[in-house]
Amino acid sequence: MVGRPKKEYPPLFEPLYINIEDRREELLEIIPVLCPECRSAVVGPCGTHKRKGRRVQYYQCKNPACLFNKTHNTARQFALTTSGGVKEVLDCMLGKMTKEIMKGKISQSAIAEKYGVSDALICYLRSKIEKTISDLQGLKNLVVELTNDTAVAADETFIRINGVPFYIIMFTGYTTHKILGIKVSKTRNEKDIREVFEEANRNIKLPIKIVTADAWGATQTMSKNLMRNITLVIHKHKKPYDKAVIWHIDYEKKKRITTKIGVKTDFFKKWGKKEYFYLVNEDDLSVSISKKRGRPKGVKNGQGKQRKNPKPKMKRRRKGLFKVFDRGKRGYAKIDLFHKTLKLAKDVLPAVAAAIRETQDLFWHKSISNNLAENINSVIETRVHLTGPKTPEVLEQRLRAYIIYRNNPEILGITIVPHLFSPKILFNEWNNSGIKRLFQLNENWGKKNQTDMSVN
Ligand SMILES: [Zn+2]
Repeated sequence: MVGRPKKEYPPLFEPLYINIEDRREELLEIIPVLCPECRSAVVGPCGTHKRKGRRVQYYQCKNPACLFNKTHNTARQFALTTSGGVKEVLDCMLGKMTKEIMKGKISQSAIAEKYGVSDALICYLRSKIEKTISDLQGLKNLVVELTNDTAVAADETFIRINGVPFYIIMFTGYTTHKILGIKVSKTRNEKDIREVFEEANRNIKLPIKIVTADAWGATQTMSKNLMRNITLVIHKHKKPYDKAVIWHIDYEKKKRITTKIGVKTDFFKKWGKKEYFYLVNEDDLSVSISKKRGRPKGVKNGQGKQRKNPKPKMKRRRKGLFKVFDRGKRGYAKIDLFHKTLKLAKDVLPAVAAAIRETQDLFWHKSISNNLAENINSVIETRVHLTGPKTPEVLEQRLRAYIIYRNNPEILGITIVPHLFSPKILFNEWNNSGIKRLFQLNENWGKKNQTDMSVN
């Protein structure tokens, strides 16, 4: 290339028109022509193409460093509507809409109104985003990387869809506030809760050490049947919410030792002398009390069903989760204002001390509560009531896509968004006043490009 003068490509500015309903055109803005691939202003015209009965000017990227050239034989060609400048505005708008859709704080139609697009487009965009997440990541893994959580909050939200009740069971990590396990189910028995617990356990580096939950019996049964050490903090889910019970479950040879501690919810909140109550229960695990299945030998159908002297029915004692406050031994802890520590008596039971220390880590200077999941619940509920088929499976899939986005917003970076939509679809949407709105909403765009161009 000796002797031949290098061709100069001064920046091009072209008017961008939009179509009005009565086939008139309105000037939207004068925009710089940029390559959609490398966003360079080094571009040149390259002829016209016939489009819908009129000729449309095309451009070609002249930037020798354009990455498009590495994978293609000819440089990138484009029209003004597909040029870098317009693409940037669209990308930015899609990014904003994506965030708003996934946050779910305002309704679908409110988002549509805000951006001057149809409800259908928002709906379509959401299904595209959910599909993208599912393709990227699969819906099995709620987190991209295992988290550092060791404490989790268990929560079951009750919802009604078309009159049918469902539970959304969720485990949320205390350190990261990420949702680590979820299940949508018609039941919330031990098996359901165990499933979510195991999912949460797979999503963290170390095994779950402490679970906080409301006073739902299945969570307690699950914790007992884990057959490993665990601390369970149980909150009352009825007023007054002034008491909590901590279970420290431990194993010794063939015994399960459950140390139950009753505290007021403000136990860790302020300094002073604090009272607690404790009880130790031991379950002998070597004695199997499982019933034999089937009918006893030698008994035919109908035989042996009636007893002459039926045993008097045992009066079932109330489970009385909070009976530890009446029957337990009393102990004291002191929240030391000066040292900012919690002091226990020297002869305190090790299990009691361990349970209090673990709970202290979560609720120091706070009242003991299970409200970690509450914020998330309200968002989840609005998402549940969005349109679409409503079976537990479908619902769970949608919630999983949302949770993955919420846990790992970085996976849906702006680079993914442009592939969801061609500018054409959006131009159809924004054909009328909408597109003007789009440029207005995107305040920074004009300024940014002005400064970019003045540097050149
Ligand atoms: Zn280029």
